[in-house]
Amino acid sequence: MSGQSAAAPGKQPVASSPITRVASWGRYPKTAHAHIYKPAWNDQVPEILRRAAPGSLLPYGMGRSYGDSCLNAGRELVDCRRLNRILGFDPSSGMLRCEAGVSLYDIIDVFLPKGWFLPVTPGTRFVTVGGAIANDVHGKNHHCAGTFGGHVRQIGLHRSNDGLVTCSSQENPDMLRATIGGLGLTGVIAWADIQLKHVAGPWIDADLVPFRSLSSFLDLSRESNDRFEYTVGWLDCFAGKDLRGIFFRGNHSAVQKDDRGAKVRSKRELKLSFALPEWMLNRYTVKAFNAAYYKIHAAKTGPALVSYNSFFYPLDSIRQWNLLYGRQGFLQYQCVVPETNLAAFEELLDCVARSGMGSFLGVLKQFGSAPPAGMLSFPRPGLTIALDFAMRGERTLQLMQSLDEIVQRSGGALYPAKDARMSPSMFEASFPRWRSFVPYIDPKMSSSFWRRVTGAQG
Ligand SMILES: Cc1cc2nc3c(=O)[nH]c(=O)nc-3n(C[C@H](O)[C@H](O)[C@H](O)COP(=O)(O)OP(=O)(O)OC[C@H]3O[C@@H](n4cnc5c(N)ncnc54)[C@H](O)[C@@H]3O)c2cc1C
Repeated sequence: MSGQSAAAPGKQPVASSPITRVASWGRYPKTAHAHIYKPAWNDQVPEILRRAAPGSLLPYGMGRSYGDSCLNAGRELVDCRRLNRILGFDPSSGMLRCEAGVSLYDIIDVFLPKGWFLPVTPGTRFVTVGGAIANDVHGKNHHCAGTFGGHVRQIGLHRSNDGLVTCSSQENPDMLRATIGGLGLTGVIAWADIQLKHVAGPWIDADLVPFRSLSSFLDLSRESNDRFEYTVGWLDCFAGKDLRGIFFRGNHSAVQKDDRGAKVRSKRELKLSFALPEWMLNRYTVKAFNAAYYKIHAAKTGPALVSYNSFFYPLDSIRQWNLLYGRQGFLQYQCVVPETNLAAFEELLDCVARSGMGSFLGVLKQFGSAPPAGMLSFPRPGLTIALDFAMRGERTLQLMQSLDEIVQRSGGALYPAKDARMSPSMFEASFPRWRSFVPYIDPKMSSSFWRRVTGAQG
């Protein structure tokens, strides 16, 4: 492996921007303003840390977190997107060293043509390596590959008091475990070594099966998890007791070049450039969309060769699709519920169906039993669901509060990367051991999320 970290020409100090409005993916909360540093070189980061006041800074990736875990209202952000150099690659092992602002899109773009893919990927490629580590993201292969953090072998971490610290299973292993899923609070990740996965090409042997109940989803999931690397379900949350969904499963294909006309890249990439009026998104339009989606996909059952793009990242084909939800933004609710408590899961779905506020996207996944890679990692054995809700003020927040009560009673948890409103008691229930993480927090770091759920002011 060559290269450690690119050196800055002259290490010029970086000034922060005037106070600027920053939004996360859900565009709620709306009013997060911060000063932003945009270092171009890793060597500029120590000076930013040195000059910062205690509790004033937070690293920022591509802002693909839905709520406020990537926001630092009224304080400062270190935008890491210009720290995006590939520092080394070992073609015999697939070990990649890159700066933390490299995006998953960049990694695929450079390494998929060479036969290497991400070990774990979330449902969008527009995420930085730093963001993927700090939220310890999961994907459709959690049941067999665990989380992104489990494939990170070593990191370089800028700390305000200790300089650039190397963390691996041999050196500072506790700091590595704290930083994986550590919500950006342990310092600024400078670079990471990630073990890529060898693949034959860009194709997925996919299979699609409709299901009509939660228990048939689980049967399908259990039966598929041994044979398929990737499994996930889509659920129509408006269907109520007549539950229906589509189960997607797939493996990397041995096909290297396709003669059957399947396309790797969709050339027609749409972009939404303004927020849609709120009246366009109501229970009737969403219900009609879900019914049509189900009908189209239920008619396409069976095996098919599809590109990695359409299998992993269907939403990436509409740039800024978050504007669909209107000017008030939206909230995503992602929880995990233990499988021993399926009744709670059914109660949750029922509560959503009765509210009439169901979303387009109900994504369902059975997590595996891999031990957590980080101290605050979210995935744990159980069923996870992610639901989008257009923000409609108090009634949206009240619905979520009711969902929290069900999740909390079931012994489940909420995902910080998707959250903008969970209470301190819900955070405590989700991460009962969070206090043992506190000693690893860099004294210069804080976030809107952390202040909200722990009451910490520093
Ligand atoms: C369409 C869509 C689909 C998604 N699907 C999934 C999914 O399937 N599974 C899943 O787990 N998540 C999913 N997510 C959430 C997303 O993967 C995470 O929120 C991810 O962390 C966002 O990365 P980012 O680069 O945008 O970071 P940001 O959102 O900007 O920041 C996220 C966290 O990373 C920290 N951070 C960023 N850079 C650094 C750095 N250099 N050093 C230290 N900390 C840093 C920030 O402080 C913050 O705490 C999805 C999001 C979208 C929009």
